[in-house]
Amino acid sequence: MCRALGCGARTTRYGRYCNTHKSRLRRHGDVEQEAITKTDLKPYLDLIERRRLTNPANPFWTALQERWSSVCKDAEATIAFLSTRAGLRSDLQSAKEVLRLQSSCDPRAVIDTTMAMFMMLEMEPRRFRTDEAFSHQLVRRVRGLTETNAGRWFDHRSGKVKRAYRDLPPRTARIMASILAKALGGGGLTLAKLEKRDQEDRHRSRHALADGAATLT
Ligand SMILES: [Zn+2]
Repeated sequence: MCRALGCGARTTRYGRYCNTHKSRLRRHGDVEQEAITKTDLKPYLDLIERRRLTNPANPFWTALQERWSSVCKDAEATIAFLSTRAGLRSDLQSAKEVLRLQSSCDPRAVIDTTMAMFMMLEMEPRRFRTDEAFSHQLVRRVRGLTETNAGRWFDHRSGKVKRAYRDLPPRTARIMASILAKALGGGGLTLAKLEKRDQEDRHRSRHALADGAATLT
């Protein structure tokens, strides 16, 4: 029987999960992890945008851009190195993914999406079942910035064009997540801490106002 909570379907021959949960695990990093959508991430992207507008000249933003370009340079070097040797397939594949992102999206979109994910992790930790699940969601959201990872097909039954999301193999996703985390994760955590500080300040000043009002004579 499948080990996922409340499932009870038969497992695949040697596995711990049924087919459905096996693919959920592969796709989301945990059988119980819900997909983080673009809409889920929107509030964090808005916070980043607001912070950028209030600190337009801060070197924080250019430092992030530089980090992303150095990730891209590293990816180029990895590809040059591995294409002549029998290297790890997943290293090569994740380097190619990085370059695909570089060529098809605005660097700021990659930077902001990664940071928004880290802000979410910091501010709503319960949205993520495990580190592995977070990594998968991070990679899914960043790859979601490009259209090319989704093959399109026409569903005759619904009469709509559907997208088949092509997932990276888990190992490649893990490598890619760690590349993004190392370069840009800290930036997201910094922004999350600033948000928390601002929230506390607002809270304190509301209390001070209420306390003051209660004792006004
Ligand atoms: Zn199951």
